[in-house]
Amino acid sequence: MKTKSIQSIKGTQDILPSEVHFWQEMERKIFEEMALFGFSEIRTPAFENTDLFSRSVGEQTDIVSKEMYTFEDRSGGNLTLKPEATASVVRAFIQHNLDKINTLTRLFYIDALFRRERPQKGRYRQFHQFGAELFGSEHPEADIEIISLASSIFKSIGIDEITLKINTIGSKSARDNYKIELKRFLKPQFNKLSEASRERFEKNPLRILDTKNSQEQEILLNAPQIFEYLSEDDKAHFSEVKMHLKGLNINFEIDPYLVRGLDYYNRTIFEFISNEIGSQNAICGGGRYDSLVSQLGGSDTPSIGFAAGMERILLATSNKERAENIDCYIVCMGNKAQDWVLKCANKLRSMKFSVCFDLLKRSLKSQMKEANRLNAKHAIIIGENEIKDNKFQVKDLDTGKQQEVAFEHIIKYFKNL
Ligand code: AMP
Repeated sequence: MKTKSIQSIKGTQDILPSEVHFWQEMERKIFEEMALFGFSEIRTPAFENTDLFSRSVGEQTDIVSKEMYTFEDRSGGNLTLKPEATASVVRAFIQHNLDKINTLTRLFYIDALFRRERPQKGRYRQFHQFGAELFGSEHPEADIEIISLASSIFKSIGIDEITLKINTIGSKSARDNYKIELKRFLKPQFNKLSEASRERFEKNPLRILDTKNSQEQEILLNAPQIFEYLSEDDKAHFSEVKMHLKGLNINFEIDPYLVRGLDYYNRTIFEFISNEIGSQNAICGGGRYDSLVSQLGGSDTPSIGFAAGMERILLATSNKERAENIDCYIVCMGNKAQDWVLKCANKLRSMKFSVCFDLLKRSLKSQMKEANRLNAKHAIIIGENEIKDNKFQVKDLDTGKQQEVAFEHIIKYFKNL
């Protein structure tokens, strides 16, 4: 009886060789743009103390209250697989005194994250984000650098159908006042709210604002808006952000209902939405988090950042065709040629040409088929006669042109291509 095979965990995905080049290409562009904006990479561990997330993302948020993969360590500590990266980057920033190296710190990451959400298209339990964090400036120009950076990366990846939504949510005290007013407004309508919103009413009423339920959206049309509760400084900050965005020709929409699901944000928040990927349409979210560093034990450091979901970006990019591609396939004829094939392959590889050859001792025809399947640009045929006469056939598989080359000239042939 065949042993039952083990399957991957629900909500996780294998990235197979046929698709990994999309990831590599996306990562290459991220590295390129991050460098152009002066951001350096940081890598943080896959798990952290659970407290880090409950103290930053917030106890009442969906992420912390329902979605974390938390486990007890054998020594009794309470650990969590990272559900988001900002908290970890901030922890590392404080722990390694990065603010003492520069007054402004620009960091980016590409990372795997874990949330126990209900899996569907564009929503997974292990997913990947890239993101950037800019520490040390309270000025609107820092907001603009972060939004421009995200926008440039999306452009370079080739996502066009994208909308930038922005809002401002002011300080914590403004939000607390607003929450009271929002609850006062919603209370008479409580019975008309969905179960999810009723649950949020006490714990996290702001989240009711980003409901997808049309009946609730209609109720909210008359709700008080957060903007009315902001300080003059908050409003001035937002005006400057809008002015600079216009100056840079970065299109945006103001969305007074945009709130974001994490507690640490203040002032500017934003999302990039794709119109092409179904219900899970947020590609990127970000905002200012001026109190987070001090809240986690560091010195007062106004900061802003974004995180973008890589699976969703791939869903939003078209043009997914790209076959495998190698420089040379060596066709081996007969046992005596094997040693020559190995030598020739490694020689070419040392010159940075990619090379494959047969490992199954198959027929000439099957080997040529394999060369085509791999999209090899050239094939070299090595058999006993070729070795005896020191004349090797090198075939350009695009043009079909074939040339006889002595072994010592094969490298020269490739170098001159
Ligand atoms: P957040 O950290 O919740 O602000 O999310 C930032 C971005 O990460 C979102 O806009 C999505 O593109 C992506 N994202 C968040 N959660 C998931 C998930 N469960 N699966 C796939 N992508 C996600």
